[in-house]
Amino acid sequence: MKIIMLGAPGAGKGTQAKKIAEKYQIPHISTGDIFRANIKNGTELGKKAKTYMDQGLLVPDELVCDLVVDRVKQEDCKNGYILDGFPRTIPQAESLDAALAALGESMDYAINVEVPDENIVNRMSGRRACVGCGATYHVVYAPTKKEGICDACGAELILRDDDKPETVQKRLSVYHEQTQPLIDYYRNKGILKDVDGTMEMDAVFQAITEILGA
Ligand code: AMP
Repeated sequence: MKIIMLGAPGAGKGTQAKKIAEKYQIPHISTGDIFRANIKNGTELGKKAKTYMDQGLLVPDELVCDLVVDRVKQEDCKNGYILDGFPRTIPQAESLDAALAALGESMDYAINVEVPDENIVNRMSGRRACVGCGATYHVVYAPTKKEGICDACGAELILRDDDKPETVQKRLSVYHEQTQPLIDYYRNKGILKDVDGTMEMDAVFQAITEILGA
C-alpha cells in the first residue's frame, strides 16, 4: 500500500502517518524528519535545507526529489510506504509519478487531512519537539508525562523555529500557493480521499483506516 499524506502544516498528518505506518507495518517517510536529521548531523544537505526551513519556505525541489525516489526504491519499501510532507509541489508529484511509472508502479491513496487555517495557528503554537530524538508532542492534545521532557528519550522539548507564529503564517501561505494544488492533482487521478482533521486524533485515525481497509 503506497500512501501520500496531504494537509497543511500542523493538520496532524505526521501523527497520523506514524500510526498508519505502525498499523500496516510500512515505512514512514517524512522529508521534514530527514532534513531535521541532516541538520542535526551537520551535513551539507542539512545546511542548505536549514536556510529555507527557518524562513518557512520550501526546500528547492532538486534537493528533495532524488532523496525520496532513492528512499522508496529501498528493500523495506517493497510492500508499500507512507509519504509524509512529500510531495509538496506539482513538480515534486510529477517527478515521483515518473519515477514510479518507470518501475511499473503508482501511488494508491492520497489522504487529505483537512483543517481550517484558524485551527492550525492555534495548534502549532502548542507543538513541542524533542531536541534528542525529534518526537513531537502538543501541550494540550498530546502532552508528555512530565512537562517539557520527552517520553521517548528523556531529552528537553522545544518550540521549533519553524513552529513559531510568524513562521507558521508564512508556511500556511506557502502551503496554499504551492501544495494545495496537489489536492486537485490527486483528485484528477482518482486517488484522493478527504478526511476531517478537526476531529479527535483517534477519530481521524479511524476515518483513515476505514478508507484504507482494516
Ligand atoms: P515538515 O516537518 O513536513 O512540516 O517540514 C518542515 C520543513 O521542511 C518545511 O517547512 C520545508 O521547509 C521543508 N520540507 C519538508 N518536506 C519538503 C518538501 N517535500 N519540499 C520542500 N520542502 C520540504
